[in-house]
Amino acid sequence: MRCAVLAAPAPITQRPLTIEEIPLPEASPGHVLLRVKACGVCRTDLHIVEGELPPLHPRIIPGHQIVGEVVAGAGIPIGTRVGVSWLGGTDGICAYCRRGAENLCDAPVYTGYSVNGGYAQFALVRADFTVPLPDTLDDLAAAPLLCAGIIGFRSLRMAGVQQGERVGLFGFGASAHLALPVLQAWNCEVYVSTRGESHRKLAQDLGAHWVGSERDRPPVPLDRAITFAPSGDVVISALASLRKGGVVAVNAIHLDRIPEFDYDSLLWGERQIRSVANMTRADARDFLALAAEINLRPRVTVFPLDQANDALLAVKNDAIDGAAVILPPGI
Ligand SMILES: [Zn+2]
Ligand SMILES: [Zn+2]
Repeated sequence: MRCAVLAAPAPITQRPLTIEEIPLPEASPGHVLLRVKACGVCRTDLHIVEGELPPLHPRIIPGHQIVGEVVAGAGIPIGTRVGVSWLGGTDGICAYCRRGAENLCDAPVYTGYSVNGGYAQFALVRADFTVPLPDTLDDLAAAPLLCAGIIGFRSLRMAGVQQGERVGLFGFGASAHLALPVLQAWNCEVYVSTRGESHRKLAQDLGAHWVGSERDRPPVPLDRAITFAPSGDVVISALASLRKGGVVAVNAIHLDRIPEFDYDSLLWGERQIRSVANMTRADARDFLALAAEINLRPRVTVFPLDQANDALLAVKNDAIDGAAVILPPGI
């Protein structure tokens, strides 16, 4: 099968992914083999490829927003279309799994990081960590929902968003552009602060209540804020926009740093900062059901598998409005 392999992390400008032909993955108990129909590109892939997340294997195929069709294995009928996300498995027995927090599992499997992912024609995945996909979502529309969408949705939950609140989105890439329609469905006022003229335009087109640059402060205190950029400065900007008792949820697996900040003016008043780690299968199910209900349509830019490096470079440069999706060659 054709795939994109990372052997040595490096800046994406050095094109660290190589396109290769390798044997099909071998069947394994509890797993199904998927023919990959589309795979979304996530900023986490960039952190893996550039080495901000340390390598776990000498060679890995990235990609954790897989739309695929079951072609072999047990437990799911052949021909079924399923989705696979970042959480590719858990041990099911650790203290976190037992208390229903499988996103914090002590022995997790991460698709495209601890096991091979979807930048490939085929992927071997745990059957019990696939999610059914609503028929209303075609392959290209479904792919970005599987991490950008689900984890954006979890971020809204972790921020404690209530109906009708004022919510800030700091950064406006793949995840934020999917969170916005969810907030609108909850009758929230959405305030978007982002760099990049085209990202601001997209936020405006999608009906944000207020849109500003990364240097502008939303005009009213916010109940909740979610940050999407891998930048601690953005977390502090979000914190500075909150009312007393407000919450910042940080939707980033990696941050450059957290700068020193003034406790009295920024955190006092029961303001909170919390990170958002991974996702649960319940998040996936709930979000995909909601996405079908509100007819969520991602803005998508397609890259052939052979251009996987270009797709990641575009994500790094914020050059894509919405989400990038990789299409493997048909079989
Ligand atoms: Zn566990
Ligand atoms: Zn992701």
